[in-house]
Amino acid sequence: MSESDGQNQVENASAEASRVARDALVGKLRRSGLRPTRQRLALAEILFDGKDRHVSAEWLHEIAKGRGAGVSLATVYNTLHQFTGAGLLREITVDSSRTYFDTNTGDHHHMFLEHEDRVVDVPSNAVSVNRLPEIPEGMELVSVDVVVRVRPKAAS
Ligand SMILES: [Zn+2]
Repeated sequence: MSESDGQNQVENASAEASRVARDALVGKLRRSGLRPTRQRLALAEILFDGKDRHVSAEWLHEIAKGRGAGVSLATVYNTLHQFTGAGLLREITVDSSRTYFDTNTGDHHHMFLEHEDRVVDVPSNAVSVNRLPEIPEGMELVSVDVVVRVRPKAAS
């Protein structure tokens, strides 16, 4: 086998791996009731790569631009909200100017590191909420999301 055959095999294997990954994403979108458009797929590829992430629309837009995906920030926002509506993402609002989208939709809370503008996961059993307001008549509790905000102690 020549060196270039070896190279071709590596390229074929990685093309095969990315085709399999893309098929999995197409299936994920379809099962969630979303048509797998080129733009949705481009963003889903970045978001759902197997790691738990908390992303901002601006971050996702930058990464997509870097990959030549050609999506506007408005499209990124729309897509993130569609993914959230379809249950693929969970929205975490830290304050009125900061929203993150979480690829981990399981039950957990968050800690916001103010000095780093970063959100990290807190396991659900690390927080206990032992008093809740009365749920209005005809309503049911969906979830309680806790965001614990921290910053470095002021020097004394
Ligand atoms: Zn999270």
